[in-house]
Amino acid sequence: MEGGKLIIFSAPSGSGKTTIVRYLLEQPELNLAFSVSAASRPPRGQEEHGKHYYFMTVSEFKKHIKNDDFLEWEEVYRDNFYGTLKREVERLWADGKNVIFDIDVAGGLRIKKKFPEQTLAVFVKPPSVDELKIRLKKRSTESDDKINMRIAKASVELATAPQFDKVIKNYDLDMALKEAKALVQEFVAPTKKVKKKQK
Ligand code: 5GP
Repeated sequence: MEGGKLIIFSAPSGSGKTTIVRYLLEQPELNLAFSVSAASRPPRGQEEHGKHYYFMTVSEFKKHIKNDDFLEWEEVYRDNFYGTLKREVERLWADGKNVIFDIDVAGGLRIKKKFPEQTLAVFVKPPSVDELKIRLKKRSTESDDKINMRIAKASVELATAPQFDKVIKNYDLDMALKEAKALVQEFVAPTKKVKKKQK
């Protein structure tokens, strides 16, 4: 596989990375397309098959693992498998797009390792684990058990931040959006640095 650029946004659940990724997708000059992942969990709220995820059963997911169809995959939570299909990225590259991912920390770092030069890996940091708890409860799309599972994972994920190319602190959403856009812009279309002529 080879092709265009890959932009990864990883963070604990509830950090706001999905909001940031959606905002970036609305910026035409970045020429981004979203990598729709495969997932073995049921759709939440307004989620649609083929737009937010390719929803499938655990056994369908395992068949794809066996066929080596994934660029990366993770059992992010027990029996909740998520993965990036190679053909999804190939399709978007064939369209001439830069591909943006909203994936978990382990998956993000795996892609960075596979395509070190082509990939910008960004970690989105929430203000605190307590704030994450508040955000997840506000979202109220899941049971307390599921929320607690996500929070338990968050502390482990926060420790991986230094392995990413860049860390964005999402304490103030507007600032985080601006920072994210500038980072991606510079990565997909670097501004040329003009050398000063020596006198
Ligand atoms: P959610 O259930 O909230 O949609 O996603 C749970 C976690 O799985 C999030 O951190 C999300 O970014 C991550 N995720 C979504 N798609 C993928 C994927 O293709 N691969 C990996 N490794 N994680 C993913």
